[in-house]
Amino acid sequence: MSKRDYYEVLGVSKDASDSELKKAYRKLALKYHPDRNPGDEEAENKFKEAAEAYEVLGNKEKRQRYDQFGHAGVGGAAGGGGFGGGGMNMDDIFSQFGDIFGSAFGGGGGGFGGGGGRARARKGSNLRIRVQLTLEDIAHGVKKKIKVKKLVNAPGNSYKTCPTCNGSGRVTRVTNTFLGQMQTASTCPTCGGQGKSLDNKASGSDQNGQLRKEEELEIEIPPGVEEGMQLTVRGKGNEAPMDGIPGDLLIVIEEKKHEHLEREGQNLHYDLFLNFADLALGETAEIPTVDGKAKIKIAAGTNAGRILRLKGKGLPSVNAYGKGDLLVHVNVWTPKNLTSEEKKILEKLRESENFKPNPTGKEKSFFGRMKEYFN
Ligand SMILES: [Zn+2]
Repeated sequence: MSKRDYYEVLGVSKDASDSELKKAYRKLALKYHPDRNPGDEEAENKFKEAAEAYEVLGNKEKRQRYDQFGHAGVGGAAGGGGFGGGGMNMDDIFSQFGDIFGSAFGGGGGGFGGGGGRARARKGSNLRIRVQLTLEDIAHGVKKKIKVKKLVNAPGNSYKTCPTCNGSGRVTRVTNTFLGQMQTASTCPTCGGQGKSLDNKASGSDQNGQLRKEEELEIEIPPGVEEGMQLTVRGKGNEAPMDGIPGDLLIVIEEKKHEHLEREGQNLHYDLFLNFADLALGETAEIPTVDGKAKIKIAAGTNAGRILRLKGKGLPSVNAYGKGDLLVHVNVWTPKNLTSEEKKILEKLRESENFKPNPTGKEKSFFGRMKEYFN
């Protein structure tokens, strides 16, 4: 579903002042408020949409980012703020109201409750684990068996219905506001919206009736991931106390250093060392790759410093087609501790006219080669 422009949502122009924004939001919030439109899903969506738009445009920094980058500029950056992917939840919206509308909506401290009298599911906390991967794992994607210790509700617990809300998870109260008398619903303060509470907790469990349990699971890591990336496995984190939605399992990628290959984005680099004779006479060299080995032909008369490209022997991208390349850097290996016979041969070669350096300009400078490599 594509997102509507925030200015359009609030029905204001791009250069709207803060007070214009506030006024527009206030109008929409009152129109689409869940307490005035019980059971109307469209109204609830409009209400959330307006709240999200105001959350961004009502904040100077976020508005600037939004003007510059659009939805992409404020989506991820909000982080745990609540409207990253799935929009704001009702609690976020109502907790904002005090700031925007002042005490008119605050009532007797209750304010507007949640929408429509739904009992709200509590979410368990997230778990985070690190997974080490080799370049080979990253090149092909990998299935990993991992063990996590997560909080689960102890099997021996017993629960009772909350006496304050009789299990509904909400309490209603009547308040006088500038709109007249309004019935407002809010989360039950006794049970926190769960509708029940722990009666007897199983022995060995914590104050929430939870235990740590080790679970083994298999996770699938797609090809092309990078150090520091975080993958989310929904619902595999800690269970919510009593019931509700389990948290997520966050998998943080760590890259193991490869013995021979160096990663640079999707490309790989390899330092190839050959002796002078191989470079002068030509040779076939074996190059380690993430798939095993590849052969590369070194033409006779190759100079040190050349960069040879093995197309498609790099890494795939996690979110695009195509593969990077493997760049082979040609280095010359100079021997030490020569025998007297070796010395004699080299002394003779040194005299040869052919051995005098005579760059024609085709041998590129270091900077010329770097330019070529980046193009
Ligand atoms: Zn309750």
